[in-house]
Amino acid sequence: MRIPLASEVLPQPDWRFDPIREADITTSCPTCGAQQRLDEATVTQTNAEVVYTCREGCGPILKVTEAKPFMGKGGYRLGDWMIRNPQVVIVKIRGTQSLLLPAPEPLQDF
Ligand SMILES: [Zn+2]
Repeated sequence: MRIPLASEVLPQPDWRFDPIREADITTSCPTCGAQQRLDEATVTQTNAEVVYTCREGCGPILKVTEAKPFMGKGGYRLGDWMIRNPQVVIVKIRGTQSLLLPAPEPLQDF
């Protein structure tokens, strides 16, 4: 199974706005604090998850996984998928307000 990228699981704005791309999604590294766009991070796609790793190589900054019932905490369920973010995520939608995904508390087993 192919796990989608974060830009593919976020709800897309309507036709008046440009679609969300990886470059429109920003978060921070929980280790070094560097703010970065997802297109700057290193992406690893496995059968179970998509992992975005800090561009400085510290470790994961965001994951996309399958949504499972026991994963109710520590992320955002978007249909069949879950975005797990230890730090706030800012989604820039060109021409309108940005969408904020606060860091969920607690984020277990990240
Ligand atoms: Zn880092």
